Amino acid sequence: MADLNNKVAIVTGGSRGIGAAISKELAKNGIKVVINYNSRSELAEKVVAEIKEIGSEAYAVQADVSNIADAEKLIKEAVNHFGGLDILVNNAGITRDKSFKKLSEEDWRTVIDVNLNSVYNTTSFALPHLLESDAGRIINISSIIGQAGGFGQTNYAAAKAGMIGYTKSLALELAKSGVTVNAIAPGFIDTEMVQAIPENIRESIVAKVPQRRFGQPNEIAKGVIYLCKDGDYITGQQLNINGGLYM
Ligand code: NAD
Repeated sequence: MADLNNKVAIVTGGSRGIGAAISKELAKNGIKVVINYNSRSELAEKVVAEIKEIGSEAYAVQADVSNIADAEKLIKEAVNHFGGLDILVNNAGITRDKSFKKLSEEDWRTVIDVNLNSVYNTTSFALPHLLESDAGRIINISSIIGQAGGFGQTNYAAAKAGMIGYTKSLALELAKSGVTVNAIAPGFIDTEMVQAIPENIRESIVAKVPQRRFGQPNEIAKGVIYLCKDGDYITGQQLNINGGLYM
């Protein structure tokens, strides 16, 4: 079992939803957390304050991870502030749902940039530091949509499936180094992203979930901490946390 005390993590998009839950769960386990956010600094500062209240350390850094210069700034600031980096959680993501016929080139490129190219951006600058850690972890928050597809989600599904292929390939390349690379594929989790879905569609989704409910952000965070703590021999995997919706 890895000793997580005083390890350092970056959670992209850590200011709300699943990212905030992951940040708090890491902090509860003694990890110092860099909360990345793109806009709405007040949300990131709220998570930092909540983490400090539980006696751990956190630091907020603004960076648009779809921009490679911003990603470099994020990793540099994190390492300067906490003196190293052990865990990278690529969680930032957006949707721009539209059927393919209505999808603009901008809808396509923006979703690929934020959800997939961001992973290249952050990993490129984080990797040298992760390789120096004795508990290096890369955890990519993919989606059930990357596995099963989703109506009106060609852009999002392509990005999230891309994350899974990237996870497996990088896991192979890094296996000997001890840095593990895994993906978590959440089902439908009760955050702003899912709250934005029209009520009638939300109801029809819940009806299809074998456990008949949306997941909670903390249920994804538990998967992240499991991989960090007990995941020494787990690499290149997809951990499905979806109430049985995709098996
Ligand atoms: P959310 O919309 O509540 O939060 C997304 C986070 O990403 C926010 O903190 C936002 O500020 C950040 N972000 C967006 N663009 C960014 C950028 N360019 N740079 C930096 N940060 C940026 O969504 P959520 O539901 O918490 O989703 C978190 C992750 O989980 C996403 O990758 C999402 O695709 C994935 N996911 C969510 C669900 C779900 O049902 N909620 C299901 C499967 C996968």
